Amino acid sequence: MPTLQDKIVLITGAGSGIGRTTALACAAEGAQLFLADIDPAGGEETVRQVQAAGGVAQFMTVDVADAEQVAAMVQGAVTAYGRLDGAVNNAGIEGVHQPLVSYPDDVFDRVMRVNVRGVWLCLKAELSVMLSQGGGAIVNTSSVAGLIGAPMLSAYDASKHAVVGLTRTAAVEYAAYGMRINCVCPSFIRTPMVERFLAEAPDLARRLTRASPAGRMGQPDEVAQAIVWLLSDAASFVNGAALPVDGGLTAL
Ligand code: NAD
Repeated sequence: MPTLQDKIVLITGAGSGIGRTTALACAAEGAQLFLADIDPAGGEETVRQVQAAGGVAQFMTVDVADAEQVAAMVQGAVTAYGRLDGAVNNAGIEGVHQPLVSYPDDVFDRVMRVNVRGVWLCLKAELSVMLSQGGGAIVNTSSVAGLIGAPMLSAYDASKHAVVGLTRTAAVEYAAYGMRINCVCPSFIRTPMVERFLAEAPDLARRLTRASPAGRMGQPDEVAQAIVWLLSDAASFVNGAALPVDGGLTAL
């Protein structure tokens, strides 16, 4: 039987990259999807791709840094499907690639708003619903930058460490209430975000490939499959984990 059969799953940042691929992977495992993104064109395209593959999905335009919009998103999922079994808090931005001493304050604030406040607001709203139902599973998208330093990416690195902290704290607070909250920590994965990084630092691809034990970047579906597993009942005793999906990078 598909591992997410008839589960209702909400995914943020579903209009591109890892979020879109996760939507397709969840739908392939039988989940019905409520998708959110700040970019309506990307989100609608993901809905089209899910439906073309025979899946069920709806989309809402949402800025995850806005509390009212996040509350409306979670309410929208419940109104559409009657409940919420799983959530993937995946929306994120990279900021800029710059030394810490000259890193722009406004970019730092923007990265924190989306990557930290966004995940925090989503957790609050999703947990409220899931606790009233008796449980659920949440996966946040952190990064290897949530586990180790990331030169020239100080805001991004700090934000992803914060996602690991939020994940662990929420997991411990709500484990006794039927909740599992984990995060994935991918290394460089070929998505539009990484293409933007590579445009700013063209030799990065070569350096990263050389630094990785796997000798390559990851593919979005390699992250999506880890997320599907963490959402599924197959991971029933996995809680508070920060799972590297990094070809062995953080094992070095
Ligand atoms: P992406 O840029 O392809 O996709 C990110 C999506 O988030 C976009 O559709 C964008 O519109 C959406 N988004 C941005 N700000 C938003 C907001 N305020 N509200 C709602 N949606 C918003 O990037 P991706 O590589 O697919 O990244 C997805 C997640 O994975 C991010 O959290 C990112 O930090 C994380 N991540 C990516 C990599 C990688 O190498 N690609 C590695 C580790 C972690």
